[in-house]
Amino acid sequence: MEGTQAQVHHYRLYIDGEWVETDERIPVTHKYTGEVIATIAKAKRQHVEDAVTSALETFRRSALTPSQRSDILLEASRIAEKRREELELSLVREVGKTRKDARGEMDRVINTLRLSSEEAKRIAGEMVPLAATPGAENRLGFAIRVPKGVIGAITPFNYPLLLSTHKVAPAIAAGNTVVLKPATATPIASFLLVELLEQAGLPKGHVNIVTGSGSQVGDWLLDDPRIAMYTFTGSAEVGAAIKQRSGLRPVALELGNNSPNIVHEDADLDLAARLIAQRSFHNAGQACIAVQRILVAESVAKAFTEAYLKEVRQLRVGDPEDPETDVGPMISEAEAIRAESWVQEAVAQGVELLCGGRREGAVFHPTVLTRTTPAMKVNCLEVFAPVVTIIPYRTIEEAFAIANASSYGLQAGIFTNDLNIAMRAARVLEYGGVIINDVSTYRNDVMPYGGIKNSGLGKEGPRYAIEEMTDLRMVVMNLK
Ligand code: NAD
Repeated sequence: MEGTQAQVHHYRLYIDGEWVETDERIPVTHKYTGEVIATIAKAKRQHVEDAVTSALETFRRSALTPSQRSDILLEASRIAEKRREELELSLVREVGKTRKDARGEMDRVINTLRLSSEEAKRIAGEMVPLAATPGAENRLGFAIRVPKGVIGAITPFNYPLLLSTHKVAPAIAAGNTVVLKPATATPIASFLLVELLEQAGLPKGHVNIVTGSGSQVGDWLLDDPRIAMYTFTGSAEVGAAIKQRSGLRPVALELGNNSPNIVHEDADLDLAARLIAQRSFHNAGQACIAVQRILVAESVAKAFTEAYLKEVRQLRVGDPEDPETDVGPMISEAEAIRAESWVQEAVAQGVELLCGGRREGAVFHPTVLTRTTPAMKVNCLEVFAPVVTIIPYRTIEEAFAIANASSYGLQAGIFTNDLNIAMRAARVLEYGGVIINDVSTYRNDVMPYGGIKNSGLGKEGPRYAIEEMTDLRMVVMNLK
């Protein structure tokens, strides 16, 4: 990293332990003020090839023991804690995330580094009872977990530090090496992650970072047969293209959702209204598990809606650097215009706008709609904006059917005090996670996290990501 002018830092690529300059730069803006806060080097094809070469050679040398990997990740978590204020402010500026959301992201980054450090020491295989098979009495069998090699990691704009950590830290813990490509709208976080790991003592070649557009740099990464596995978080469209391009190589895909949250007639309505209001609009609705569709039992719909709107109207919207702000800008004005047009389209089709619908530049005010239909974009697509719909239902089975009538399946929430309904929800909701008496947005980094249907393939959470990023290798000994 080097300063080019006052306050504007320039980040070079990180390849084989060197910060590498290129002849093209991409500006990174403050998402609320629009000012340029940094520039990043744009990779050419040769840089991507060099990064993969470094990662592969480093992997083949396999220099780090599990305890060394664990120590480095733990040290990185300690450094992240020490640099917390600087990292949070960077997230606030490059993503437009509020101080509250940035603090939450940093807590989870530190936790994910710690969990990865712990898991690095727990990677084990298992004995396989070959000798129990008649005729194989003299065979000893065990399966060991071995790292896959070079992991190609591609990350989205919305939780740039956390989601890069969720890929890089388990990959390192497992003994892999990484080539990381962050989103160009918010790349600084990934450079900071690489800095943390370098400061923590990660030797050269283990993590490399190349930046540039997905259609170019992402494409070059997908072209390189030396990459053993891809781990991607982003949209379903790009995820599908990556799956197609990667051939027989494994992919882990964390994609979108249009999360349903059910409020049943027996629910604690105050709890539901408060938690759903808090988590409908955090990160300006740009979270893969943000509340999008609120399904409410008809008998309590009026009471819930009143309590919910009361909470929503208290949210403070505006400058993300103000510690009191709850909802900041979206990633760009273009994205806010897209959200506004979806809302306007729904309103033109007869939807009732209960609050919001207003846009100021990239800031889109928390918007609540009701009397929608399933085919409207605000219901059937991933809205990825501070926009939610309230959908009344008559029976709980109808609620489950509406929730499942989605091409996505990442996480769902249900508020109920009836144990049987809660357990039925856990069984019938077609989602990777079912959250009871909290919102679909709940994620603790220790848990297995990942969707079904168009929400993706594979699980994250350090322990589960390590499983994805290692192979089970069978060892058979023919004993005398
Ligand atoms: P995106 O799919 O547009 O981009 C994600 C990454 O893919 C970026 O780094 C981008 O440069 C790269 N990319 C784009 N085209 C590519 C191509 N052809 N080949 C290779 N790489 C390519 O997503 P986004 O707009 O940055 O993020 C929002 C999406 O991410 C939403 O759909 C959201 O639900 C999803 N998301 C999912 C999770 C999860 O854990 N399931 C978490 C956060 C975000």
